[in-house]
Amino acid sequence: MNRTRSEQLYQEALQHIVGGVNSPSRSFKAVGGGAPVFMKRAKGAFFWDEDDNRYIDYLAAYGPIITGHAHPHITAAITRAAENGTLYGTPTELEIRLARMLKEAIPSMDKVRFVNSGTEAVMTTIRVARAYTKRSKIIKFAGCYHGHSDLVLVAAGSGPSTLGIPDSAGVPASIAQEVITVPFNDLDALQTTLAKWGEDVAAVMVEPIVGNFGMVMPHEGFLEGLCKLTHDNGSLVIYDEVITAFRFHYGSAQTFAGLGNPEDIQPDLTALGKVIGGGLPIGAYGGRKHVMEQVAPLGPAYQAGTMAGNPASISAGIACLEVLQGEGVYEEMDRLAIKLADGLKASADRHGIPLTINRIRGSFSTHFCDHPVTNYEEAQDTDGEAFAAFFRHMLERNINLAPSKYEAWFLTTAHTEADIDATLEAADASFREMSG
Ligand code: PLP
Repeated sequence: MNRTRSEQLYQEALQHIVGGVNSPSRSFKAVGGGAPVFMKRAKGAFFWDEDDNRYIDYLAAYGPIITGHAHPHITAAITRAAENGTLYGTPTELEIRLARMLKEAIPSMDKVRFVNSGTEAVMTTIRVARAYTKRSKIIKFAGCYHGHSDLVLVAAGSGPSTLGIPDSAGVPASIAQEVITVPFNDLDALQTTLAKWGEDVAAVMVEPIVGNFGMVMPHEGFLEGLCKLTHDNGSLVIYDEVITAFRFHYGSAQTFAGLGNPEDIQPDLTALGKVIGGGLPIGAYGGRKHVMEQVAPLGPAYQAGTMAGNPASISAGIACLEVLQGEGVYEEMDRLAIKLADGLKASADRHGIPLTINRIRGSFSTHFCDHPVTNYEEAQDTDGEAFAAFFRHMLERNINLAPSKYEAWFLTTAHTEADIDATLEAADASFREMSG
């Protein structure tokens, strides 16, 4: 496949943009390096690159594009918003509409505040939890990604209940000392950690369904146990639902069937992003009224934003949720994802390639290994080179995946049966080459 123009643009980008990309996950470093593909247009389930190659897209911009690219209902809403002025710096009725839609779908959110990214949303939930509890330490889970603010760029120390160490240059060791990282799906480790740090712990933060070391479900009873242990300790539960909200059904993980009795798995604070902006920049956080009343102008915890609640992002978010309210929308994504995931597994088996697929409704992750993946350690213990080879073979066959073994495939409302068939054909040919 000719990708000359992408290669030229990458060389040019390297001269002006650090690393040639505006987010490290876009580089091809984790799949053998080289020029990432420069896209110039996207519509529905498809991308076109600068050399006019067409790809079926399963990246979905790392999650937000659940209705496919340039969905007409969302495009019309953005156009209308732009014609009425893109940024006011005053309250608008639109913000109330989207806040109400979020509250109706996520009952633990009595009050909402809009911000501009998932990073901001998570960062602020931590500040609010600290303000409310007047405590400072945070417990999080290994492999969960919560954006790039200092406090969550912290890796585990030498044991489950030891303090963290910086996971990025520029994060001071003093900040890492405020965070303890424990393995996902391990209530014993959480219990030990809470027992050790007790009244220092402001909050336990978790992706209730993990989306960042593949898609990983909590074990039965994990979220119930997490909420009980945390609340018994006088700490708050923060759910990072930046990926999970509106991804699997019209609602969030805290209302997703099978994860536990809804009353027993309610967080105090929730962070949102991605899908709720319909492809424009957005984040939101919310929670119990008495907790959210810590936030300025009502309370002492400060958080602000020039761009927050801008009419374009809010309009795109409303339009996106309206599409997702359509009948059978999620069921159709599930149906196609089952066909695709089952087909991939059968094809890998045929060619003798070990593959574990974690599918949760319309999204799934492909782990090149022959063991289950239920925590970060198991996700790390998979064949990154096999993934890189698969990624490159698929790209050559016009299938666009995320360039990392940890990222999910996202189905959208725009994918069709024909796209799934074409993807399975490409995968079968890729596995054949890899095994030969
Ligand atoms: N939280 C989770 C679970 C995420 O997956 C991400 C981004 O991938 C973030 C937070 C950060 O969101 P953003 O990239 O919008 O800052």
